[in-house]
Amino acid sequence: MVSRTRMLGIAAATCATLAAGSTAALASGEVNVYTDRQPFLIDPLLEAFTAESGTKVNVVYAKSGIEERLKAEGKNSPADVVMTVDVGRLADMQREGLTQAVSSPVLAANIPAEFRGSDGHWYGQTFRARPLAVHKDRVDASKLTSYLDLAKPEWKGAICIRPGDNDYNLGLIASVIAHEGETKAKEWLRGVKANLARKPQGNDRAQVKGVQEGACDIAIVNTYYIGAMMEDPEQRPAAEAVKLVFPDQATYGAHINVSGAVVTANAPNRDNAVKLLEFLSADKAQEMYAKGNTEYPVKPGVERADLVKSWGEPKFDSASLEAVAKHKAAALRLVNEVAFND
Ligand code: FE
Repeated sequence: MVSRTRMLGIAAATCATLAAGSTAALASGEVNVYTDRQPFLIDPLLEAFTAESGTKVNVVYAKSGIEERLKAEGKNSPADVVMTVDVGRLADMQREGLTQAVSSPVLAANIPAEFRGSDGHWYGQTFRARPLAVHKDRVDASKLTSYLDLAKPEWKGAICIRPGDNDYNLGLIASVIAHEGETKAKEWLRGVKANLARKPQGNDRAQVKGVQEGACDIAIVNTYYIGAMMEDPEQRPAAEAVKLVFPDQATYGAHINVSGAVVTANAPNRDNAVKLLEFLSADKAQEMYAKGNTEYPVKPGVERADLVKSWGEPKFDSASLEAVAKHKAAALRLVNEVAFND
């Protein structure tokens, strides 16, 4: 059984109950997880880990504020593992001293080098691409071969996107900086802004709905949301109105980002934390991620979901994940400088 605590933002941190159990956790087979991923995905993974290892998992589900909570708790934090998304956030946690290096032959064997921090401070569990979701009839996809095309005047009023300072968009902008340099990236971002159909608003799914409803012709969306929308009778028509275009196939590949985990700097149950990361990198958990949330498993050879397979074998920009993390601050600066969200 996974024991859960819910935390809605940092305000709830002080009344969470995990700290009370941490002394017992030191002496027995337990591991404490903080995550801002969704329970429907994480609970089955942690239950499978407990079933296989006998190690009890205590999980805190937070909507936000995990980094702030870790900092506030300092070296007394009961957290052993943080499971989250976005390479920029994983790298930020490392830079802020909240993580520790882990070296494990199992992790090294299961997770290709491009999907983990080069010094062992973070490990990817899945990756997700951020392609274009274009209206299947209204858009000539042959004119959209690169993210750079989104800035061309012919797409004036055609693009729907969530706010620029969202982590997913910062990752995409950071990858453009990594490949094209900051000056060209800024010019590009200004061009994309000029082509927006509306002020950036809503989440990724709302952009796909925007295409279906005719507000725009091109949305930018993480792949797994298409999977989630296909499973939802109300959202399925929007997902079916678009086709995915994976840009930059002739050059560096479509932008991707990761979900991943870290072992905290002062993990009281460090060995169990490493065992949990190893479990999450192995076939069983990788299959659960692939089927449960239509993400791409990081472990080579693990079968992808049927929908994901239907998108073929796009080329992905996996070389630049650490570069993406490095350029995230510059990406946010550009978003502000071109007033992307205004
Ligand atoms: Fe998401």
